[in-house]
Amino acid sequence: MYDLKTTPLGEFDVAVFGGGISGVFAAVSAARAGAKVILIERSGSLGGVLTEGLVPRMMDSKNKGGIVRELFSFLDSRGMSGARSGAKDPETGKLLPGDLVDVEACKYFFDRITADVGVKVMLYSQVAALDMDGSRIASALIVSELGNYSLTAKIYIDATGSGHAAAMAGCSWEFGEPDSGEPQPVSMGSTVVGVKAGFSGTNSHDEKSAYADMLSEYGIKVSAAQVNVVTLPGCKTWTFSANFGYGVTPEDTERLSETTAEGRRELFETVEAHKAIPGFEDLMIVTTSSHIGIREGRRIFGEYRLTDSDILEGRRFDDGMCLVTLGVDVHKTNKDDTTETVRGRKTKPFHIPYRTAVPLGVDNLLLSGRCISGDFYPHAAYRYMGDMASVGEAVGFAAAECAKTGIRPREFDGRAVFRFMKSRGYEM
Ligand SMILES: Cc1cc2nc3c(=O)[nH]c(=O)nc-3n(C[C@H](O)[C@H](O)[C@H](O)COP(=O)(O)OP(=O)(O)OC[C@H]3O[C@@H](n4cnc5c(N)ncnc54)[C@H](O)[C@@H]3O)c2cc1C
Repeated sequence: MYDLKTTPLGEFDVAVFGGGISGVFAAVSAARAGAKVILIERSGSLGGVLTEGLVPRMMDSKNKGGIVRELFSFLDSRGMSGARSGAKDPETGKLLPGDLVDVEACKYFFDRITADVGVKVMLYSQVAALDMDGSRIASALIVSELGNYSLTAKIYIDATGSGHAAAMAGCSWEFGEPDSGEPQPVSMGSTVVGVKAGFSGTNSHDEKSAYADMLSEYGIKVSAAQVNVVTLPGCKTWTFSANFGYGVTPEDTERLSETTAEGRRELFETVEAHKAIPGFEDLMIVTTSSHIGIREGRRIFGEYRLTDSDILEGRRFDDGMCLVTLGVDVHKTNKDDTTETVRGRKTKPFHIPYRTAVPLGVDNLLLSGRCISGDFYPHAAYRYMGDMASVGEAVGFAAAECAKTGIRPREFDGRAVFRFMKSRGYEM
């Protein structure tokens, strides 16, 4: 017999499930628009893949405004971002912020901006079940190591990355590459010290492959054909990642656990084997990511589903939430796959329309982050952190407006979202 006694957390205008980059931005944006907001995060820090997964590179952030720009201003002023390849500020001639970010500074920033606007943050808590009333979510069951809780909200936002809440609400979804159904691989990240003096990291596609080739000359075989060694701004540490784990589906905790252990083992053994490489004898792991990085989860079906032709033709929408400027980034989906990255798709800058955040079939739910509605290749082109953060800011605004007016997200005029993002300095 399970004890399901719950403590009520209260009633909210907006409840956000998942405190990754898109969930944090959604929560802050909703609170700034006047909503009473609660943010439920499973782990002990905000930031998701960025912080838990040790991925310090917020790509496709240069044309973004709003909270993205606030984050970079905070980091830039402390020397905690990397202005390397950015465009020049027309006024000062200085490089605009690059995409490298200090992970710990981001954790601090996320704690601070959520607190500043009065978002109630519940860490170590996860949404475990939803009570449905027809096509509406009536309440949510939240479990934590310290007990069970319940909450109600006018609007719920699924920012769990893999669309866990939408699946609980009965939404339909798809997953994996169209022909095989295989998902992109998962990867364990790490922070290391002891990189060879003068080595500037693997910043380009070619450098990443060359590093893997260099390792194989020393008999070191890694599961990824590319190795990421990236210097972290502000301090003498690097992130190091060289492993791929295959076949992790959104409903298979056993496989997720196996790939986590495999990833950690491979990192440990790979770094240890560097002792044979001149200049890298002192390479050492400081920490591995507390959650293995999951590139792909459910793609929930929404009022609009981004298609291959949308991204190839660079389609713009009058309910656009942000402009995606980078291309498709698909890694090997199984160990025999010979295409390491990018399935050859060149995209033109395209909008992510608001309707991709409105799931079919549930009246008071919005999607934020990588579980929005899009096909496999579009997902691989918009999952960058700069874009997922922007989607969060847009969806948070829409959620607050829906809560205020009683309008269902489906009926909300997405052109207001476009105008809002433009007013926030996003290049549309
Ligand atoms: C290995 C790897 C490398 C990458 N490299 C880059 C890169 O270099 N640059 C770049 O821009 N992008 C990169 N990406 C993509 C990018 O990091 C992600 O697409 C983006 O961070 C997704 O943000 P999100 O908020 O949608 O999801 P996530 O970051 O996954 O956040 C989801 C959050 O929800 C929480 N959660 C999950 N289930 C529950 C639940 N039931 N209840 C409560 N909370 C829950 C999780 O703990 C997590 O904090 C990479 C991704 C991976 C995995």
